[in-house]
Amino acid sequence: MTLKLYNTLTRKKGIFKPIKKGHVGIYGCGPTVYWYQHIGGMRRYIFEDILVRTLLFNDYKVKHIINVTDVGHLTSDADTGEDKIEKAVKKEGKTAKEITHYYFNDFEKDLEKLNVMMPDKWAWATEYIKEQIGLLKILEKKGFTYETSDGIYFDTSKLKDYGKLVMLDKEGLQEGKRIDVKEKKNKTDFALWKFSEKPGERQQEWDSPWGVGFPGWHLECSAMAIKNLGKQFDIHTGGIDNMNPHHINEIAQSETAFGKKPWVKYWLHNDFLNLKLKEKMSKSTGQIVRLETLEEKGYSPMDFRYLCLLTHYRKIIEFDLKNLDAAKNSLKRLKNILSELKNGSGKTNKRNLEMAKKQFTEFVNDDLNTPRALSYLWEILREDRLNNSEKYRLALEFDKVFGLGLDKEDKIKIPADVKKLVKERENCRRKKDWAQADNLRKKIKQKGFSVEDVGEGSKVRLV
Ligand code: AMP
Ligand code: ZN
Repeated sequence: MTLKLYNTLTRKKGIFKPIKKGHVGIYGCGPTVYWYQHIGGMRRYIFEDILVRTLLFNDYKVKHIINVTDVGHLTSDADTGEDKIEKAVKKEGKTAKEITHYYFNDFEKDLEKLNVMMPDKWAWATEYIKEQIGLLKILEKKGFTYETSDGIYFDTSKLKDYGKLVMLDKEGLQEGKRIDVKEKKNKTDFALWKFSEKPGERQQEWDSPWGVGFPGWHLECSAMAIKNLGKQFDIHTGGIDNMNPHHINEIAQSETAFGKKPWVKYWLHNDFLNLKLKEKMSKSTGQIVRLETLEEKGYSPMDFRYLCLLTHYRKIIEFDLKNLDAAKNSLKRLKNILSELKNGSGKTNKRNLEMAKKQFTEFVNDDLNTPRALSYLWEILREDRLNNSEKYRLALEFDKVFGLGLDKEDKIKIPADVKKLVKERENCRRKKDWAQADNLRKKIKQKGFSVEDVGEGSKVRLV
């Protein structure tokens, strides 16, 4: 079945055709690991996860790389400001490695909780310094670079199609916007290599043919993507804020170095998750809402995942607790229905299953339309022509894309006093003291739990 994706490069939704039949290479811009990731970032990786799951659902073989920015991302996009990691080093009094690994581990745990499939590789920028220097050498040899007192820059005036991803108006930009040019030849030029101000002072710096320093953030992503996926590949993703200047600079470097146009066939960008009334949720402001913040308020990571699926990835999510409550309730209802359908009887009809699966695939294959696919799941559950086992089978099939863990029981912590009552009740049942067993069931219910008899034992659930 055809898969349609919206491509930022062409500004059109079109049929996806990979470079190599049946195989897809994806590179996603990952976290800068100087601080905790907020739920806005989590939305981004849930989107990417849905993309990967949809490709797998369509029987593609996927090679998926996400990078970890552990050096070179400056606090300003204009090649000024501090390296975010070095800034954290000073603030926390730890080594750069301690910081980047600590925040990466925290991030990875969140992804696991959210049932996000891990990429085939996490590409750490500091492990690709050789490749980055190699790429810069090619650009230098081709005459696209120049040196200033603080680094080596890419001369964007030499590229006719610079900024095509965002239809950048170079002329307007040259005259208009306030961008700190300093020694740059053009406002859009960007750093490929920055010199250490005082070598020996930074925690992370390397020798290079141009002097001791560190790579530019854009160079990192080009070098890591090419090393892992080749000089041309299928899909590159990021949040919409990555488009300009990060992605247009990645394109400039990669297409200049190897002449393959387009370097990447499909560019997919997710929109933001905003806290209502705030602009965008940003790590640099220090005020962030983390997955843990939601968990402390009694929401599960899956409630948040469900909320994300309710909005198309190219639309903004205006986040507040009211819409998270609604998502939580819907997911709870859904799981309750499924636990009832689970042991349902009825022979499954292959044609019924295939037709429903086809319809579902059409929805997710329409540029990952998860809101429509989710409402289709609800339609299926209400469909009289399907029996319980067909409904259950379909829900689990759709969940290969949703990743909501619909077949998993919610992990609930049963308090010791409830456990004790359940044990007592089991004893009563064994002695056939039904009246007392019913009494105990009522007591258990008063404590917020339901109990179901399973053979000799019992199953306890939240009411
Ligand atoms: P960062 O760690 O800030 O470099 O961001 C990692 C990725 O998350 C980038 O691809 C960003 O575009 C994306 N991102 C950051 N903030 C948000 C947000 N509030 N909503 C959605 N995506 C975001
Ligand atoms: Zn990147």
